[in-house]
Amino acid sequence: MSIQVKNVGEELRNTSKSLFSVEVMPPLKGQRVDALYSAIDPLMKLLKRYSVRKRPGTVGIAAAIRNRYDTEAVPHLICGGFTQEDTENALIDLDFLGIRNVIALRGDSVKNERVFTPEPEGNTYAIDLVRQIMDMNNGRYIHEGLDLDARTSFSVGVAGYPEKHFESPNMEVDLQHLKNKVEAGASYIVTQMFFDNQKFFSFVHKCREFGIDCPIVPGIKPITTARHLSLLPGFFHVDLPETLVKNVLACSSRDEIRKVGIDWAIQQCQELIEFGVPCIHFYTMGKSGSVEAIASEVF
Ligand code: FAD
Repeated sequence: MSIQVKNVGEELRNTSKSLFSVEVMPPLKGQRVDALYSAIDPLMKLLKRYSVRKRPGTVGIAAAIRNRYDTEAVPHLICGGFTQEDTENALIDLDFLGIRNVIALRGDSVKNERVFTPEPEGNTYAIDLVRQIMDMNNGRYIHEGLDLDARTSFSVGVAGYPEKHFESPNMEVDLQHLKNKVEAGASYIVTQMFFDNQKFFSFVHKCREFGIDCPIVPGIKPITTARHLSLLPGFFHVDLPETLVKNVLACSSRDEIRKVGIDWAIQQCQELIEFGVPCIHFYTMGKSGSVEAIASEVF
């Protein structure tokens, strides 16, 4: 079976209509891969392509998804917990498997750490990871002097924050770091989730003013439970609009909350498509039901 490899960065730049991708959570250790497939199966009838969030050690998951669905899987590589050598080995495996699209991220601090601490001999910021991948694209590996002559051809996406990354002192500093990642070789940006489209529009505007001209893919997360009202702002450092919060609090059942979340996300997506986004990325957090309802309405 031959699988056509796509370059996500190029596709996003050239697409004439809005696409969509979804993020899936690999199964926990000990669970079978069927758990993952059961979350993806309902979406496949809707998906032309999608990206897959990668937890550490999930090169195999990306390969399994690719083999089963014959579509692009975009593993997420993080700095945290990995030496540069670990990363190089993972990238070599991905390259052997024909997986040519990755997202380069720093990762968050682990429990008991106040600030993010890189691994000794690991990458400190996402930009260092982007540079390492670009080095491999240029045939430069960690061990100098090895005549590997094997250039990889990874297309790299990076994260952006319409409401600013929480560690940045201000938006301008954050945008400068984002611009540096793009200049280092990233070809597109996927954003953190947001619930107010104006924040995304303003972010895109500022990026363009800053000279960041690559495709920017908005990240959408449907609210599915009342707990999200505190969990999402606490964990992802995002604001929830007053009306959305009010609508969720007025619900008397879980199904009603789910419907509020779906309706809100549909409205966001329709407006984003009208704005001309190249793709919408859905955060599923392991549950694909709401995303299925939204995507079948919007796409
Ligand atoms: P960076 O770009 O390295 O930025 C981190 C912070 O450092 C920012 O405040 C930035 O402004 C600042 N900074 C950057 N460069 C410098 C510099 N040279 N000097 C000083 N400051 C600097 N996490 C996971 O663990 N796994 C995932 O799969 C995952 N997927 C994600 C997908 C998306 C689309 C997004 C938006 C986030 C994802 N995250 C994931 C979360 C991400 O790892 C965290 O948000 C993390 O805190 C920052 O990652 P980053 O790649 O944006 O870091």
